[in-house]
Amino acid sequence: MGYNLSINGEAVSCHEHVDILNPATGKLVGKCPVATRAQLDAAVEAAAAAFKTWSKTSDEERKNACHALAKVLEDNAEELSKLLTEEQGKPLGGLGSRFELGGCAGWAHFTAELELPVEVIQDNEEGRVELHRHPVGVVGSITPWNFPLMIAIWHIIPAIRTGNTVVIKPSPYTSLSTLRMIELLAETLPKGVLNIVSGSDELGKLMSEHKGIQKIVFTGSCATGEKIMASAAPTLKRLTLELGGNDAGIVLPDVDAKAIAEGLFWGAFINNGQTCAALKRLYVHEDVYDEVCEHLTAFAKNVPMGNGLDENNALGPVQNAMQYNKVNDLVNDAVANGARVLLGANPQEGPGYFYPVTLLADCTDDMRIVAEEQFGPALPILKYSDIDDAIARANSLNVGLGGSVWSNDIDRAKQIATRMECGSVWINKHGMIQPNVPFGGVKGSGIGVEFGVEGLKEYTTIQAVFS
Ligand code: NAD
Repeated sequence: MGYNLSINGEAVSCHEHVDILNPATGKLVGKCPVATRAQLDAAVEAAAAAFKTWSKTSDEERKNACHALAKVLEDNAEELSKLLTEEQGKPLGGLGSRFELGGCAGWAHFTAELELPVEVIQDNEEGRVELHRHPVGVVGSITPWNFPLMIAIWHIIPAIRTGNTVVIKPSPYTSLSTLRMIELLAETLPKGVLNIVSGSDELGKLMSEHKGIQKIVFTGSCATGEKIMASAAPTLKRLTLELGGNDAGIVLPDVDAKAIAEGLFWGAFINNGQTCAALKRLYVHEDVYDEVCEHLTAFAKNVPMGNGLDENNALGPVQNAMQYNKVNDLVNDAVANGARVLLGANPQEGPGYFYPVTLLADCTDDMRIVAEEQFGPALPILKYSDIDDAIARANSLNVGLGGSVWSNDIDRAKQIATRMECGSVWINKHGMIQPNVPFGGVKGSGIGVEFGVEGLKEYTTIQAVFS
């Protein structure tokens, strides 16, 4: 199947293409069009022209439009799921592609129903003051390769719901499923409201600098987030930056190690660990350390990994060679520095970037796999004896996306949870996000939030009206 850009409601072809290979097999999935600077300009111009009318549509019209987009996602879920699995690697079933498409439709329907009515903040003899919210303009969306469709929906729907128009650029690793999804979605909207350009990282930089774009919503690595902030500075763009994390989980000594093993596993290994708010460092009290290691290993060794199109598999390959090599380096470095392999490591030669589920015991905070974001199927397990020390170690990094506390004593767990420096914190689970709950990072994990009314507000400017 041929893939095109979608600009002003038209399919636009490119001279240059790059091959997108299936990470499970190395076989060609399709050819990704590489947009030129002129094509980006055309997409921004189309979005700016469409903004003039889209921003004036009624709230009801935009709500209905978002529900219609959700319906397109539902109607095409199976086709998009299959393409997502072929391109990204994640399994079709379980917490894989169908789950992601279900999330897309669910988020779109929920966000369609959110409202930002005029707020009256004063109404007395001295006067009345109302807060009105206006759309920002053209929103540039830049997405990563781990949940390419869901994250695109998280960017697009609130933008459109609030009257903005969009130019999206997917990750070069997973552009095809986003190109196809946007082609389908754009058909239900007026021309120019939703546009897509694909290509290299350079295109993202050009978007961040672009005078015709008023806001960038970006999900990706901390390093790229910093670059975007710098490129966006001269045009003073609004920014929402959802960046990397290195989430800590703290296991208290009162847990039932067997009962929490499954939750710990999926908290860490959802999407092969290629998840922003996955559990990436596990701190376990010395009294239950061996038991937790034993039960986690027992659960992990029975989770089937293989080609995602095979419905028996619950985990697929790592998405790309760069990430595969990074995980391998971090695991090797930890082992060389004294980590004990409970499971995995030593990956087999290809085909496919299959990295085995890896559990490492006796890890220390100075190991690279603890201090850096591994973003893959390897979990370091650390021991602690004093809870204040564990919290200090959990908070010692310059990122703070999520965190978790595992205990039978919910009140005590909550007290500890609120001392963790992160945007979301879970008790006896990790990484569960919801469309009605604001999600975002503290410290180096980003700026702003997504989801819920708080997330919607980020696509608007405030106007105070005094009368
Ligand atoms: P990445 O930063 O390498 O790439 C993300 C996107 O940015 C891609 O579309 C890429 O083409 C583009 N890009 C690259 N250089 C750019 C530049 N100079 N200017 C503008 N755009 C540029 O990230 P990735 O490897 O695709 O994703 C993995 C990272 O994303 C991890 O760190 C992960 O934790 C993070 N992430 C965060 C969240 C969250 O919600 N906080 C969600 C998913 C992933």
